[in-house]
Amino acid sequence: MPSSGDTADRRPHVVLIPSAGMGHLVPFGRLAVALSSGHGCDVSLVTVLPTVSTAESKHLEALFDAFPAVRRLDSQLAPFDESEFPGADPFFLRFEAMRRSAPLLGPLLTGAGSSALVTDIALTSVVIPVANELRLPCHILFTASAAMLSLCAYFPTYLDAHAGSGVGDVDIPGVYRIPKASIPQALHDPNHLFTRQFVANGRSLTNAAGILVNTFEALEPEAVAALRQGTVASGFPPVFAVGPLLPASSPGVNQANDPANYMDWLDAQPARSVVYVSFGSRKAVSGEQLRELAAGLEASGYRFLWVVKSTVVDRDDAAELSDLLGEGFLERLEKRGLVTKAWVEQEEVLKHEAVGLFVSHCGWNSVTEAAASGVPVLALPRFGDQRVNSGVVARAGLGVWVDSWSWEGEEGVVTGGEMSEKVKAMMGDEAMRRKPASLAEAAATAVADGGSSRRCLAEFARLC
Ligand code: UDP
Ligand code: UDP
Repeated sequence: MPSSGDTADRRPHVVLIPSAGMGHLVPFGRLAVALSSGHGCDVSLVTVLPTVSTAESKHLEALFDAFPAVRRLDSQLAPFDESEFPGADPFFLRFEAMRRSAPLLGPLLTGAGSSALVTDIALTSVVIPVANELRLPCHILFTASAAMLSLCAYFPTYLDAHAGSGVGDVDIPGVYRIPKASIPQALHDPNHLFTRQFVANGRSLTNAAGILVNTFEALEPEAVAALRQGTVASGFPPVFAVGPLLPASSPGVNQANDPANYMDWLDAQPARSVVYVSFGSRKAVSGEQLRELAAGLEASGYRFLWVVKSTVVDRDDAAELSDLLGEGFLERLEKRGLVTKAWVEQEEVLKHEAVGLFVSHCGWNSVTEAAASGVPVLALPRFGDQRVNSGVVARAGLGVWVDSWSWEGEEGVVTGGEMSEKVKAMMGDEAMRRKPASLAEAAATAVADGGSSRRCLAEFARLC
């Protein structure tokens, strides 16, 4: 309940409740800063320590240091026996642990005196009942694409209509057909922990007060329109397309101490000459696929900056680069490539004029950052929503996705030969940059004064 009876002069106090993983924390941090610095809100961010990865704890620390106006609300996890789910992904396990701990939020939120909540899709079905009990409006920040939001909203209806027949192509009303092969791997198994969470959250979306989504109209016109018109799910709450959420522009939020000196290295490269390769923070790329990538980058002849990740959780990563990439690779390519296992400030890399192409797994934050920077994307999705996002990339003209390329759980790898052919074709084609450049302009317009995303965020803040 609002902390003060004097609602006329009340500054809204928005409490943000993210889930786990950098893909979720980064946009929540950006929203926190935007609401606090630009929209007159008091903002608190619920944190659960220890985090799953080191990247998350460093990010939170840097965020709270740089933006003391964003308050930190520490929450606890209830005891949870992970052995119920042997072999499960550590981030899915954390989602489940947080979901089971939702009742602990009640006293925390009452003590904080909040006027509105914004939670993550992964926690939606368990946080909304807590919010209802406290008579607080509960909004969702959907950190992935509007296409994925429409899949999440429609999937329960799809399952009800196709009970017992397995998941095939999913034709989302008013949006488009998501082919079976692009549906996140886990959703083909109705008993998968992620599927159970996904369906429960999808069913409860219509009970949210509003949904913020980190996209902009020019990037996903069909999905944004269909969600707003209630074509995807009737009675759908207001949808605020507020993206691309901008990085919290303070050097303090940058967590890298840049052991690889990659910014100096980029400064020394000619304009548009470098291929930036990264697969996000959340998943390992298999050893075999890493070696094919290495062969592809070598054969392409182009310069590259490659962030290698070979474990799911960063603290577990003890492998030597030379072992991962094959003998002699680093020595042979020393003059034209920089390879690092350290965290890089991706936004800064993508804005650097030396970068001409982004070979990306198409995590949604990476896609929005590429769009905001006007850098063409060569999509190499591995897992989860990344094929849906790669479809958005191809549809919007932000880049190229070869949809026959395999991903995690399928036979085969994308070979070095296939990779180098696409890298060469994209780097050598000036025209390939036009559409990404116009999307970058559209992104800048959307978040500028009077732009659609900025207006949506202001409208949302007024509701808090
Ligand atoms: N990121 C970064 N440096 C890295 C790896 C990742 O800054 O070395 C950031 C990236 O810019 C993005 C986020 O971490 O904001 C990753 O989110 P995304 O949705 O792209 O992928 P995920 O990690 O969730 O698969
Ligand atoms: N997601 C969803 N409903 C849920 C949980 C997740 O729609 O109940 C979305 C999430 O936003 C992401 C995708 O499903 O687009 C895969 O989620 P995951 O957490 O595996 O990937 P991440 O966002 O960490 O890269």
